[in-house]
Amino acid sequence: MSVLVVGSIAFDDIETPSGRAKGVLGGAACYFSLAASYFAPVRAVGVVGSDFPDAHLEFLRAHGVDTQGIYRSEGSTFRWGGRYRESLNERDTLFTDLGVFDGFNPDLPEAYHDSEYVFLANIHPSLQLRVLEQAHAPRFTAMDTMDFWIEGAREELERTLARVDGLVINDQEARQLTGERNLVRAVGAIRSLGPRIVIIKRGEHGALLFDQEGIFSAPAFPLREIQDPTGAGDSFAGGFVGALAREGKLDSGALRRAVIYGSVLASFCVECFGLDRFRELESQQIEERFAHFRALTTF
Ligand code: AMP
Repeated sequence: MSVLVVGSIAFDDIETPSGRAKGVLGGAACYFSLAASYFAPVRAVGVVGSDFPDAHLEFLRAHGVDTQGIYRSEGSTFRWGGRYRESLNERDTLFTDLGVFDGFNPDLPEAYHDSEYVFLANIHPSLQLRVLEQAHAPRFTAMDTMDFWIEGAREELERTLARVDGLVINDQEARQLTGERNLVRAVGAIRSLGPRIVIIKRGEHGALLFDQEGIFSAPAFPLREIQDPTGAGDSFAGGFVGALAREGKLDSGALRRAVIYGSVLASFCVECFGLDRFRELESQQIEERFAHFRALTTF
């Protein structure tokens, strides 16, 4: 079953205690697409500037990602810079330059209209909504957002939230969105805005799923070394939605297994800088780590 994603496609400048990288391929849509591509065919929607090398699109296509929905515009590709503190739990945004994303309003390729699983990765909520409205009859829709849009595009964000089945968001953003410090209360407030399924990502503390049957808690996979946490949340979402699409079910069991696949993909993502881990990752390694997760959490 097909997965559609819209989100940022970026050049990132990243600084972590392990090193730095400048102008590397990033963006929520890229992390999501690559992670989801291990489970289902992915269709990506976004825009890049005239400065964007074809080799990056070829990298996505080599993973089976359909890039027909990635438009090229005159101007600069989205750029973002972030610096992580020693603990890796906190990140300062150094700059966000929207470039060609400013005012981007795509008409999706005809072939994308029948997409069954739709993920609105982090980007302006009006753009998320425009893409959602062009999917004819999706089985499952979910979205992400971040502080930049919670502060800068609140009304549009609430309009988009009212239309999706699920929200995948980190703990700080959930607090910022709702004004609730307590996460259980924050989820209650999020549900009153629309989404019935809520996943709270908690970095090294794992993820919480709130669904029709209650709460499910998944740890983060314990790693010896984390090089770069950038994109962990988007890789989580890609693994989660991709696994749901592969399984074709939306019951609580399927949602829980998908949360573990999300955690597995996030754990691989952070082992290297940027998207590098996806250059070599094999499906078999994903299944092995999934089994490892089962051993880790069963008692
Ligand atoms: P994450 O670490 O999961 O929050 O995602 C990091 C990715 O989000 C980076 O590759 C950035 O290019 C992208 N990003 C950062 N800020 C924004 C923003 N305001 N809108 C869309 N994407 C962004």
